[in-house]
Amino acid sequence: MIGPPGAGKGTQAKELARLLELVHISTGDLFRDNIRAGSALGKRVEAVLASGALVPDELTIELVRERLRAPDCVRGAILDGFPRTLPQAEALSGLLAEAGDKISLAPYIKVSDQILVERLTGRRTDRRTGRIYHVKYNPPPEGADLEQRPDDAEHTVRRRIAEYYANTAPLLEYYRKAGVLREFDGELAIADVLQLIVAAARELRPA
Ligand code: AMP
Repeated sequence: MIGPPGAGKGTQAKELARLLELVHISTGDLFRDNIRAGSALGKRVEAVLASGALVPDELTIELVRERLRAPDCVRGAILDGFPRTLPQAEALSGLLAEAGDKISLAPYIKVSDQILVERLTGRRTDRRTGRIYHVKYNPPPEGADLEQRPDDAEHTVRRRIAEYYANTAPLLEYYRKAGVLREFDGELAIADVLQLIVAAARELRPA
């Protein structure tokens, strides 16, 4: 899944993984889990996440390399928030090639900047289920145990969007050249975006 922060990658990736019975790998979630658990990795990346900057490539690539080795990834995986830089994309292509595999689809979820800031600052996550809501556009159910990501504060959101344009946007060209990029209008309703991505995925891998 590729797109700016707030495009809906996490929301879509979770549903897509459920529908296609693939694992969902979010590097952001993996880093946050490590921070919560107080691991050595968590301690190294905590300040980076809080600032909205990107974690160094070597650390991130190693994390994904390890995760992709797990047996639950044999059928494939939905990668959410990775790769985010050209070196990460190249490393991922290399890792997959070693296993005789490749990226089959790079869904690009396109959303304009004004909407991103509003979406991110209104975003809340249910601690118990991991489901993502928006205070106005996708209100949580009664009794949800909500938290706000510390990096969803407005100044950090702006830094993350800037990081996206500087480091991640070049990947659009990388995957376009590889013939796997497909663009989706991320300003449509969540269910409509999902339906379009599922249809594109099913064309590749009939259910
Ligand atoms: P996300 O949950 O995808 O929005 O990621 C939250 C934060 O985790 C980012 O702002 C980065 O600090 C870090 N992060 C997640 N994925 C990556 C990645 N592929 N490369 C570098 N940093 C990442």
